[in-house]
Amino acid sequence: MKELKDLTVETLCVQGGYQPKNGEPRILPIFQSTTYKYDDADEVAALFDLEKDGHMYSRISNPTVNAFEEKIAQMEGGVGALATSSGQAATLLAILTICSAGEHIVAMNNLYGGTYTLIGSTLEKFGIKTTFVHLNNVEELENAIQDNTKLIFSETIGNPGVDVLDIELVANVAHKNNIPLIVDNTFATPYLCRAFDFGADIITHSTTKFLDGHATSVGGIIVDSGKFNWNNGKFSCLTDKDPNYHGLSYTETFKEQAYITKARVVFMRDLGTTMSPFNAFLTNLGVETLALRMDKHSTNALKVAKYLEKQEKVDWVNYPLLEENKNYELSKKYLSKGASGIISFGVKGGTEETKKWINNLKLTTLVVHVGDIRTHALHPASMTHRQLSEEAQIEAGILPNMVRLSVGIENVDEIIEDLDQAFKKI
Ligand SMILES: *Cc1c(COP(=O)(O)O)cnc(C)c1O
Repeated sequence: MKELKDLTVETLCVQGGYQPKNGEPRILPIFQSTTYKYDDADEVAALFDLEKDGHMYSRISNPTVNAFEEKIAQMEGGVGALATSSGQAATLLAILTICSAGEHIVAMNNLYGGTYTLIGSTLEKFGIKTTFVHLNNVEELENAIQDNTKLIFSETIGNPGVDVLDIELVANVAHKNNIPLIVDNTFATPYLCRAFDFGADIITHSTTKFLDGHATSVGGIIVDSGKFNWNNGKFSCLTDKDPNYHGLSYTETFKEQAYITKARVVFMRDLGTTMSPFNAFLTNLGVETLALRMDKHSTNALKVAKYLEKQEKVDWVNYPLLEENKNYELSKKYLSKGASGIISFGVKGGTEETKKWINNLKLTTLVVHVGDIRTHALHPASMTHRQLSEEAQIEAGILPNMVRLSVGIENVDEIIEDLDQAFKKI
């Protein structure tokens, strides 16, 4: 039998993470406890000093949450993971772990609206500056990197434009400059794309989307590949002695887990953006069927995209695995199993026709969500990307007639029937 880490993602969805011992519950238990009992005061002191592994308080770690973290780390092929209260918290902690006031980030400009405002506006107020560049544009990327740049941030598949990151290309630029590539892998999930295999160093997810899959729990996770060399003179935050922990150096003490350990014992400790055990339980349950769902989401979405291409009231369609699509070659390389469930397309006309089409949908519902088993539609320009200026929207590819369609796992003919009857009404 292969070792756990050598199993396919398909098997790890089901069998990864929690490993019951003899006589223990077969299903991951919910340890709904804030705290843990010890017999010896010195043992608790050792936990505080990070000299010993163990749980002491559920803001920092919890057995149910840990089992979920382990499963996702195994699926992504990383050395450790940290679950968070939301995808936003995952992005925030992933950045703060290696970037502080006076330092700089380079990010692609086609990011999820919430990430765009977090990086471009809120972190700016914390003294972290960001330069946004066009996706996969090496020249812009190289020009944007400064001496104080600490990381490059991108999404594997952009939300909502669904353009595909050339992971290898961008990782090479990052590594030439001794900085890591952080990839938000929310839309692809580890089932469709293992970004570490192509050179990404850190992965984040909004687990709220496909990983949960049933729209029950807001959550996020950060996964560490363990492969980035922090000892290159640029990351004193991980190599130097931390007076908060009696002068330990994260790279010396935790080796390849330096980054993910610091994220937990400093930023999770201080900011408290913890995933609850119940949400970890529900999300873990969702992940058990991830492979099945992603196959169905992807085949349904490809059929819907082909229908939209032929629908006369549709202006344009973007789905990475359409043969005519600008992302097709990259998708063949990075998304060979499928391109996930999200399609972006334009309704002929403008904002009014687009909203009218959405208002006429029946089976498909208008919700602010993606990656659910149910089919959903949303108008990014007036909803998720509303906070961006019109200029920034156009720059990020958010056109006024854009629809973000999250194709569910229902019968695909019935999904198409619904879209079609709504087109007949505009
Ligand atoms: C939803 C989303 C986020 C934010 O996640 P929350 O769980 O809503 O905080 C980040 N990145 C992407 C790509 C998303 O789709």
